[in-house]
Amino acid sequence: MTINLELKKISDAFIRVKNDINSIKTYMNKVYLKNQNQDNDILKLQRQVEMLTKEIISIKNTTVKKNPNATIINGEEVIVIGNNDSMMAHRSACPYGQKVTKEHRISLDNIEDAVKKGYKLCACLKEK
Ligand SMILES: [Zn+2]
Repeated sequence: MTINLELKKISDAFIRVKNDINSIKTYMNKVYLKNQNQDNDILKLQRQVEMLTKEIISIKNTTVKKNPNATIINGEEVIVIGNNDSMMAHRSACPYGQKVTKEHRISLDNIEDAVKKGYKLCACLKEK
C-alpha cells in the first residue's frame, strides 16, 4: 500500500472519529438534561467517556520513534537515566534526575531496561 493511500485511510478514519465525537457530545447533552437525578448512570457514562478519551490520546503514543527502543510517555520520547546510588530511574528532564551526580548517573535504554536492572521508577516515568 502506498503512503498516500495510508494517509487517506488515516484521514478518513479521523473524519469518522470527529463525527462520532460530535454525536457523543449531542447524546451526552440529551442524557444530562433528561436524567439529572440518576447520578449512577451519569457517572458510568462519564467513566466511559474518560476511557474513550484515553484511547484517543493513546494515538499520540504510536508516533514514529527516532529510537525504536525508546520509552514514549504522553506521546513524547524520553531519555531514561538511573541513579545507581538510590537505584531510582528518572527521565533526564526530571528535576530529581537532573540532580543525579555524574558518578551515579547511568544511561538506560528505556523503562524496561531500568526495571530489568533493578531500578525503581520515579513518578516522572509514569503516564499522566
Ligand atoms: Zn524523576
